[in-house]
Amino acid sequence: MKYISTRGRSEPASFEEVLLAGMAPDGGLYIPECWPRMDERAIAALAGRSYVEVAHSVIGPYVAGALSDEELRCLLVKTYEEGNFTHKALAPLVQVDSNLFIMELFHGPTIAFKDYALQFLGNLFDHILEKRGERVTIVGATSGDTGSAAIEACRGCKNIDIFILHPKGRVSEVQRKQMTSVNAPNVHNIALHGDFDDCQALVKEMFADETFRKDMNLSAVNSINWARIIAQTVYYFAGALALGAPGRKVSFAVPTGNFGNVFAAYVGKQMGLPIDQLTIGTNRNDILTRFFETGAMTRETVKPTISPSMDIQVSSNFERYLFGLLDHDSARLCAMMNDFKTEGAFLVTSAELERARADFTACRSSEEDTAATIRTIHAETGYLLDPHTAVGVHAALTGRTDPSVPLVALACAHPAKFPDAVEKASGIRPPLPDHLADLLEREELVSELENDLVRAEEFVRAAIIR
Ligand SMILES: *Cc1c(COP(=O)(O)O)cnc(C)c1O
Repeated sequence: MKYISTRGRSEPASFEEVLLAGMAPDGGLYIPECWPRMDERAIAALAGRSYVEVAHSVIGPYVAGALSDEELRCLLVKTYEEGNFTHKALAPLVQVDSNLFIMELFHGPTIAFKDYALQFLGNLFDHILEKRGERVTIVGATSGDTGSAAIEACRGCKNIDIFILHPKGRVSEVQRKQMTSVNAPNVHNIALHGDFDDCQALVKEMFADETFRKDMNLSAVNSINWARIIAQTVYYFAGALALGAPGRKVSFAVPTGNFGNVFAAYVGKQMGLPIDQLTIGTNRNDILTRFFETGAMTRETVKPTISPSMDIQVSSNFERYLFGLLDHDSARLCAMMNDFKTEGAFLVTSAELERARADFTACRSSEEDTAATIRTIHAETGYLLDPHTAVGVHAALTGRTDPSVPLVALACAHPAKFPDAVEKASGIRPPLPDHLADLLEREELVSELENDLVRAEEFVRAAIIR
């Protein structure tokens, strides 16, 4: 399998190159040259199989040439069967109404769905680096959630050192503890004197310092890495198969920020999965919903919400979808991305908007809608949603076109990850699951740093001297 860049100015790359590079050299995102198709018989043959077996079939074509069948199987078993997930079905479905299901994606170590891709990515990185005899230093900034998922993915990896910067005093106690209580020699937490933007700017400066970047072999595991997308496509197959695919169509509703998760569903559809409706849920940071209403992608300022992991104004993975929508016209895509960068907006034609609307439905939730959804679903079914999941469920119910098709709403985080918002909406304070019950008593390992490039680079160099 070869990968091409959406911007059309980079050479085609192998899976291994795509994995290690993240972004293409021309600033674009990598996308497979063509979609590997599974016919109805091939999908039907996966019914009743384990998560690992489904993952093997779905991911297999994308890693061909980089991993043997056996290597892939070992990595999948290590991640999903022998690893840190606490539910044997990995992505179990809970029925909350006739034809309405919740797919629980919070049975990983940080109780949010990013674990499903990042746990695999950590093992995959480590395996490929081992084969190449290389080490990398991963540096990232976090406003809370992604940092802990990345740390959990890399702890115990032999060929990776990971440094995560968070703004001191500005992440929740649960989020901080999830990062700082990981006691592993290759994990380094930095509490920076500054805000999240300072953290992000400092990481960017480190990457821009070429000597430092090369000396440390810097790398990132951000949300545009192709391997993350394809690992997420697996649970759409698993969920659809459990509800009767390929004989029966299934719809999904996905709370969306960076467009990674919902794009993974779209990939499943391109591969042959019979997905009927794909619904995007946004909170009041509704750039995507406005796009599907008007055909204009227009950036506004970020407003804080009770679903903070979706407080985003630029959905980076949308570029992958746009590339297909423009029939691979990279020159036009580059011009549109440039418009977005310089003027904060780009437009598609009305014919393209019509096609996009056939692929996705988009609905927004106000803060009141989100809280009311948590309250109503709990009152009617006894099931407690986290605020992100509630945004998806609200969109699912508002945008639904055919109630006879089973509808799966993705539960992207455990309610205990956002206890204040959940308690305020429902009156119930959800307890942390057993494996995190003692989290707040765990010992913390964290270094405080001034917001200063020289000091930060010295810190990284000293910490990885072996
Ligand atoms: C990251 C995240 C999202 C948004 O997912 P994208 O792939 O960025 O669209 C939604 N909910 C939760 C809980 C998240 O952590």
